[in-house]
Amino acid sequence: ERISDSDKPVKDTFQDALSSRCSAASKGYLVDPYVSLFGLFQKKTPMINRGTYIRTRAVDDLVHKFLTSGVTKSQNTQIISFGAGMDTRYFNLLDDKSLEMDKVSYFEVDFPEIVQQKSQIISKNPELNSKLLNPDFDPVSCILNSQHFKLSAGDLRLFNEELVPKLISLGFDSSIPSLFIAECVFVYIEPEKVDEILKWISSSTTFSVMVSYEQVLSNSSFGKMMISNLQMRGIKLKGLEKYPNLQSQKERYLRQGWSLAENKTIWEIEKKVIPPSEISRINKIEQLDEIEEWMLLSSHYSVLIALTHNHSTYSNEELA
Ligand code: SAM
Repeated sequence: ERISDSDKPVKDTFQDALSSRCSAASKGYLVDPYVSLFGLFQKKTPMINRGTYIRTRAVDDLVHKFLTSGVTKSQNTQIISFGAGMDTRYFNLLDDKSLEMDKVSYFEVDFPEIVQQKSQIISKNPELNSKLLNPDFDPVSCILNSQHFKLSAGDLRLFNEELVPKLISLGFDSSIPSLFIAECVFVYIEPEKVDEILKWISSSTTFSVMVSYEQVLSNSSFGKMMISNLQMRGIKLKGLEKYPNLQSQKERYLRQGWSLAENKTIWEIEKKVIPPSEISRINKIEQLDEIEEWMLLSSHYSVLIALTHNHSTYSNEELA
């Protein structure tokens, strides 16, 4: 067993993401008919629900853009979700009939225990199972795979030696356009290890997009409080030690050979990106009384998009 128990608190964070999503869906912020199949409902505060909605919507929009853009038009593409936990995005994408999901291979990566748990839930649920083409549950590894949706168990810190060969054996193709998603994952990993992943992607794939959601601004007093609260649970925000703010997180990509990176805080995304009609819709769901606190919290999380190569589909103005 290479993975020590000291990873347990980080593995458990998938529960937070899952229960937040469950809560936001049950309140009507998000439409996700699948999330409740993976976990139990837990009530969250209006602020958490709002944050979950905005980050999910922002990432969903970027995924949608990738799948409908000129980059991917009439060709096979792939999505690789790092630290996917119990994320239900694949099943929700399948329901979007405007997308050509039969051209998409979707890979998820997480620690073996998490991938096994997810595989078991999917394989035992007829509704989820029936959405997959040729699902195959391996009784030895306890991992489920199918023609387009592939779960891969491994440690992102051993990317080159462990995960790249696994992904390739599952059909990962470095010559087709790829979208990598890292939703609240990179920040938990030693920054040098993530840099290796970023370097590998920029040097080994033809055209890749990264969408990453994570904490920023560790130097503010709120940021310090956020860090120490997590530390009490045994969770370290390692990425922030080297990349504490929006600027350094963007530069990290450029330094690893990517050609473009842009990011915004959740606060900015709420103000500038989410359509006002959506904001008034969610304002009606729950009242947010503590605006100051929401501004602080939402300024400490960001969504980043990066491209390995410039592409006319992604204009600078649109990204900025
Ligand atoms: N992306 C999912 C979502 O948004 O619902 C889950 C986010 S959860 C906060 C972080 C996930 O990253 C966990 O499932 C954890 O197991 C995974 N993770 C963290 N470090 C990892 C590593 N070194 N290798 C593989 N997975 C990792």
